[in-house]
Amino acid sequence: MNFNDIIVVGAGIAGTMTALSLQRRGHSVTLIDKWEPGHPRASSTDYNRVIRAIHGRDEFYTRWAREARLQWLELQEETGQRLYYECGALILATAGHCDWEDATCETFSKLGVPHHRFDQRELAVRFPQFKSDDIAYGIYEPEAGLLMAHRAVISAVQLFQKLGGVVKRGAVSTDADEYPLLDGKRMQADRIIIATGPWMADMFPRTIKPISTVVGVNVLYTATPAGNERYDHSNMPCWIDHGQGSFGMPSVEGHGVKAAVVIPDKIDLDNDERLIRRSTIDRTRQYIRKRLPGLEGERVVDSKFNQIILTPDTHFIVDWHPAHDKVLMVGGCSGHLFKHGPVFGDFAAGVAAGEYATADRFKLGKRKKLSPSESPSGR
Ligand SMILES: Cc1cc2nc3c(=O)[nH]c(=O)nc-3n(C[C@H](O)[C@H](O)[C@H](O)COP(=O)(O)OP(=O)(O)OC[C@H]3O[C@@H](n4cnc5c(N)ncnc54)[C@H](O)[C@@H]3O)c2cc1C
Repeated sequence: MNFNDIIVVGAGIAGTMTALSLQRRGHSVTLIDKWEPGHPRASSTDYNRVIRAIHGRDEFYTRWAREARLQWLELQEETGQRLYYECGALILATAGHCDWEDATCETFSKLGVPHHRFDQRELAVRFPQFKSDDIAYGIYEPEAGLLMAHRAVISAVQLFQKLGGVVKRGAVSTDADEYPLLDGKRMQADRIIIATGPWMADMFPRTIKPISTVVGVNVLYTATPAGNERYDHSNMPCWIDHGQGSFGMPSVEGHGVKAAVVIPDKIDLDNDERLIRRSTIDRTRQYIRKRLPGLEGERVVDSKFNQIILTPDTHFIVDWHPAHDKVLMVGGCSGHLFKHGPVFGDFAAGVAAGEYATADRFKLGKRKKLSPSESPSGR
């Protein structure tokens, strides 16, 4: 059955990919956002995001990430835009705290995901950018890399429009029953899909707020040394450094090295000025001194302040609102949705169209915190 009127609210990666997949399936879809798609407050619109299949013991997301990589390559081909740089990804396993990294190795071997394990001595030779004296070993995933996040959202929105999808501006609110309202009136459509990312918590105070936390995250881009290509994507992978609460990306398209030290911060989504905190600059410099000493003294050239919405188990949400049978809630809630974007959107579209039910892990309702070794994100 084709629906003549599906509304998707939220043009971040979750909403855009869901809308695109529904449009491809022959439904008529309108994508609504309160700001222009690509705006800087959205979680999806930094320059870049890592894509890697590294998810600890979790085979489900490992498989999804592998499939997503193929779909990103197809989308790149279809849009003619450079969306993906396959520079690889490296997990640095801190000596004495390697459960999640050990689990990732087992999952990769079981599922046949290409990877190499380097001991500390090999790491120093293969990836001389990193000072790895406290690292037990590294897992390198060559078929991983970075996605040009902002460009990917814009390209997907444009493709959606090319296929007949409609994009509109509008601020959706909810009434006391958590039913979506537009211009103060109850929205009418065959399906209403809510993909408002971190804004979901305040819009759905009974359904989403109790199972989510929104944290602000500041990240900095540091200049590469003049005349030196060592820190470019052609010579350096993305990396994850859980022991230091950090991850990062090499420089791509001249943006600089994104060494992100995660310092969870409070954020007022609509009212905060998106300016970087002094503490982030100090902590990032400390991190660079420890892990990337060749960048010490290089200047900050750009920054980004946005946010992550997290569920306790870091599993996504794809489920019908308990009181409204046409309202589907779809959300990242994890800090790792971007990479899965095309697969997630396709899955959510199938649920919205009634082709299948959602997966147990994505259901609304009580969520429990997982131990770092069980968690897909290692948190
Ligand atoms: C610093 C940082 C690093 C990250 N790194 C990675 C990574 O390396 N790899 C990875 O896969 N993921 C990463 N993530 C996570 C990933 O970016 C997010 O999970 C993903 O972007 C969430 O997308 P979304 O579409 O759910 O939300 P958003 O992108 O925030 O989109 C929500 C949209 O809804 C709109 N909206 C909100 N309220 C309303 C309303 N009332 N009416 C109409 N529209 C509304 C907003 O304007 C916005 O455009 C990172 C996140 C952060 C913050």
